[in-house]
Amino acid sequence: MRDTCLDTAEIEMALLSEGNEPAPEGGASVDLPPEAFRAAGYQAIDRLVDYYATLTDRPVFPATTPLDIEPLFDRPAPEQGEPLDAMLAEFSDLILPNSTLQGHPRFFSWVNGGGTQVGALAELLAAGLNPNLGGWRAAQAATVIENRTIRWIADLMGLAPTATGLFVSGGTMANTAALQMALRSTATWDIEAEGLQSPNRPRQLTVYMADHETHISLTKALDLLGLGRNALRKVPSNPDFTINTAALERMLDEDIASGMTPFCIVGHAGSINVGAIDDFAALARIARARGLWLHLDGACGALGAILPELHDAYRGIEEADSVSFDAHKWMGVPYECGCVMVKDPAVLRRAFKVTASYLHEDGDAALELYDYFDRGPQMSRGFRAMKVWMSLRHYGAEGYREFFRRTIDNARYAHQLVSDSDEWEVVQPEPRLFIYSFRYVGARHASPDDETLDQINARIADEMKRRQIALVMTTRIHGRVTQRLSIANHRTTRADIKATLDAMAAIGRELVAGS
Ligand SMILES: *Cc1c(COP(=O)(O)O)cnc(C)c1O
Repeated sequence: MRDTCLDTAEIEMALLSEGNEPAPEGGASVDLPPEAFRAAGYQAIDRLVDYYATLTDRPVFPATTPLDIEPLFDRPAPEQGEPLDAMLAEFSDLILPNSTLQGHPRFFSWVNGGGTQVGALAELLAAGLNPNLGGWRAAQAATVIENRTIRWIADLMGLAPTATGLFVSGGTMANTAALQMALRSTATWDIEAEGLQSPNRPRQLTVYMADHETHISLTKALDLLGLGRNALRKVPSNPDFTINTAALERMLDEDIASGMTPFCIVGHAGSINVGAIDDFAALARIARARGLWLHLDGACGALGAILPELHDAYRGIEEADSVSFDAHKWMGVPYECGCVMVKDPAVLRRAFKVTASYLHEDGDAALELYDYFDRGPQMSRGFRAMKVWMSLRHYGAEGYREFFRRTIDNARYAHQLVSDSDEWEVVQPEPRLFIYSFRYVGARHASPDDETLDQINARIADEMKRRQIALVMTTRIHGRVTQRLSIANHRTTRADIKATLDAMAAIGRELVAGS
């Protein structure tokens, strides 16, 4: 082992001193000769050009599972290097045909973004430069770009001029970071030193959120922070699925009276099944009156605040202590990219500041504000901002408004088709965002019971996938199985929506006839 390590170090030294020159005899060069790198780069782009050109004609969901395709990749670890050509060919021949195509206009599952070409190019450039955005000394321009991009988005959303934040892996990390800030900001004991193990810590720290579809990312956040899942208190919601603020106030008073310690309210800026947007102004008032932190989980929908026509729906967003959104969902930026933003910039350091002799060369306070390791959960960090910065610049805020409006129009069109037919049941108000749930109930003359309809709805989604028409998924609303479309993809048209609902209804009819 020892010999191998020495050999590797020697090779690295040689590479460092010789730049692009071939490595000394017997060693492998890290860098390709410039012409070979250029040729491979063009080949990679050509393969992506083919992918986009054929995207709509490809099956959205390949009829394969990881178990099916494991044999295709079952090879020993490569002892000797392989030529790049072969691997690039495998992207087209092996990887693409065995991948669900999230960019496909009839991909309606989870809340996944369709991806942008500009974002893909930005990823390439970011990876090539390879800055580490843990601290600014390793990433000056990248750090400034990250700050600037978040500033732009905060302005477009109408957040406070002080608002700042950082990119993280996704909504789950953003919610976790927000809860960490909430804890650090509301704690009455030395939480930095003693954490949740302090004998002085109050009993039963609790978090509040609407009951109908609390996102599992909150469960993960409670797990990671050691708060325990019982810390989540589910508040009754209104018929339109927004949080019932009167019920929230009652619950807070009762919980405090019974010895609990509420510290955070989490509002929905676009809930996962129906895109509900809570009353932020009311939540801010309730939080402020009791000294609680208000976080808005906007992984799906906080970006809707950039639409002037939704201004009323997002009223009060600027009063929240923290807001999260996922650039890899509605914005279509390639995975991974979530964002957490805070109104008071000092809170980031209160929650995440660390020191070590090897991190700071000098103590310039003005410059330390640019170190992200002091202001977020990660140490080493990639240049996620590049793909958001380039996408936002390329399309412009107006471009994004147009994309968002198109997806909302598609959801509303689905609602119209559902409302106009007695085969469908409306289960939510007209959608404000791009998510829409509804239920197949069969025609009036042949309406099976609820359990049978649950099974039929589940089968419809399965058949849509099996027949390669569209990838739709089911969820449960008020305990019943419903269809759920997440139309976050900017390539989706009204024709895709019509074809999808027509096919679903036809399958429903087949199943009712056969049941
Ligand atoms: C997607 C989502 C999350 C989690 O985000 P990830 O990026 O998947 O970690 C949290 N909350 C809501 C409402 C979401 O839609």
